[in-house]
Amino acid sequence: MSISRRNLMLAGAGALAAGASLATPASAAPAVDYPGAEWIPATPSNYTAANRPSTYQINVVVIHVTQEYFHDAVAIFQNPARKVSSHYLVRSGDGHIAQLVREKDVGWHAGNWNYNTRSIGIEHEGWVDQPQWFTQQMFAASAALTRAICTKYNIPKDRGHIIGHNEVPGATHTDPGPLWDWTRYMRLVNN
Ligand SMILES: [Zn+2]
Repeated sequence: MSISRRNLMLAGAGALAAGASLATPASAAPAVDYPGAEWIPATPSNYTAANRPSTYQINVVVIHVTQEYFHDAVAIFQNPARKVSSHYLVRSGDGHIAQLVREKDVGWHAGNWNYNTRSIGIEHEGWVDQPQWFTQQMFAASAALTRAICTKYNIPKDRGHIIGHNEVPGATHTDPGPLWDWTRYMRLVNN
């Protein structure tokens, strides 16, 4: 799958070099679900392949804070022994967004199978007790991502459907923690 996509991209590059149309061929599936995200795939050992939203309805966005540096979080998602993954990871310093799991697939981030099946997980670089990680850039980029996800899947842009990991039933995690400014975040999502 990724090989054929790469071949398509290479073919596209060749066509561009030859001065052909800039239009993307209809058969070229996008590498990411969110334009501008960087595709850094998690290992398939850390998520469940699915065909959402037809197999499972998507109606929740779960907000996380990594307790790891960006590159360490990526390494964890790529380590088959860790059994954990998130669809997206937002970098603190500049709001850069990585996509690690396709939205059609079930990420393993909520610690609750039911919530995993019907959610998109967004991780944010930082530590719950260190305010410097909660940057304006990260908030703005994440809110735009959440807004796009909610619009795409018809998810109400409210706190009943955009929740913290700590709000998942049975959660043992406390992220995103008290420094996550929900009022500001929801205002940005609804901008
Ligand atoms: Zn979490």
